[in-house]
Amino acid sequence: MAVGIEEVEILKPRTDKREYRRIVLPNRLEVLLISDPETDKAAASMNVSVGSFSDPDCLEGLAHFLEHMLFYASEKYPLEDSYSKYITEHGGCTNAFTSSEHTNYHFDVNNDSFEEALDRFAQFFVRPLMSPDATTREIKAVDSENQKNLLSDGWRMAQLQKHLSADSHPYHKFSTGNWDTLEVRPKAKGLDTRHELVKFYEKNYSANLMHLVVYWKESLDKIQSLVENKFQDIRNTDRGCFHCPGHPCTPEHLQILVKTVPIKQGHKLRIIWPITPGIRHYKEGHCWYVGHLIGHEGEGSLFYILKTLGWATSLSAGEVDWTYEFSFFKVNIALTDAGHEHMEQIVGLLFKYISLLQKSGVSERIFDELSAICETIFHYQDKIPPIDYVVNVSSNMQLYPPKDWLGASSLPSNFSPGTIQMVLDELTPDNVRLLGAYLSWCQGKPRRWRVV
Ligand SMILES: [Zn+2]
Repeated sequence: MAVGIEEVEILKPRTDKREYRRIVLPNRLEVLLISDPETDKAAASMNVSVGSFSDPDCLEGLAHFLEHMLFYASEKYPLEDSYSKYITEHGGCTNAFTSSEHTNYHFDVNNDSFEEALDRFAQFFVRPLMSPDATTREIKAVDSENQKNLLSDGWRMAQLQKHLSADSHPYHKFSTGNWDTLEVRPKAKGLDTRHELVKFYEKNYSANLMHLVVYWKESLDKIQSLVENKFQDIRNTDRGCFHCPGHPCTPEHLQILVKTVPIKQGHKLRIIWPITPGIRHYKEGHCWYVGHLIGHEGEGSLFYILKTLGWATSLSAGEVDWTYEFSFFKVNIALTDAGHEHMEQIVGLLFKYISLLQKSGVSERIFDELSAICETIFHYQDKIPPIDYVVNVSSNMQLYPPKDWLGASSLPSNFSPGTIQMVLDELTPDNVRLLGAYLSWCQGKPRRWRVV
């Protein structure tokens, strides 16, 4: 069977001299080839559309554990760590991460060592070793990663937000995993973690759910033959993509104030609403528009007022934690000591500002300005390191049509006041979650909020 080369237009920056080609291998692996004669590093990234949302209920962290087990040895190169040793000895680095709906594996290396590096990389997806010997050690590695996360306020807050959501939704789960979820609890249930791991891999990892980006200085034809040769043996089972419809926050998870004690100094106030996911209307840029106005720092803005009052040192606003099915809009405010004493007034001012935006209507002039700024940023962007570029693009391939693989949602172009108004109208007091981090909370409940 021949390799499919469908001539598709990929929108690229005007200043970008690199060449791009999309191919689909007979096993349905979709690949973007990038030829950059000026690069001093080659890179590749494989994005698999399987993440922690696919974890079985009794094995939280299994997708993440698979990422660890897959990415260290294969049947062809069974020597432990020989892959990362090869990469670092040839001027490169390697990494991987697991998110809710995908897992991304990537590396870069000196141009001259790319062929062998890519062969080693490809074998993780063709025939990974996942040896029984490595099981305990890698569960311990996952566990120590989690121990490290426990000291990070960002990780703790993220997990807390997940915890305060419907337990029937995968968002609720503990995605990292630890010794308890991957060893103690499965054992108590008579499950063998490695056996479950292999089952999970065989069920979920299929070439049709993978997107590969390969970046090298050679010609597109040469990169293509290398890719065909090395990746054609990845198994395809035509597996369907994981979907979980519905929002993880039900009414009982809204209108709450959560008080947390951070590990680090500093007071943070996070104001969060569930909203319609931006990706469903990514050409209309509704979250960009609203984030731009709420996060504005000029005279007359919300932040300007909070700063003048001596209550805040920074403010940001935008969409976070989104998938195609659900999303959140978050306003993050770093408070001063005085600001912490006036938290209720700050929340009041924020809602007053949002109400002003809701009532004053959507401005085409502001949208056009934003759209022009985004276009300039896209077309005149500096090159980023190839390893970062391939990770960005392979992640986009899962979400956008080929035309938008490079620009993704960064180029809002269709003015749709109705869509912008829709998200503005979702930012109501009825729909909100407040998370405050403060080292020494004063006693007593705030008056109007349920404290959990
Ligand atoms: Zn890890």
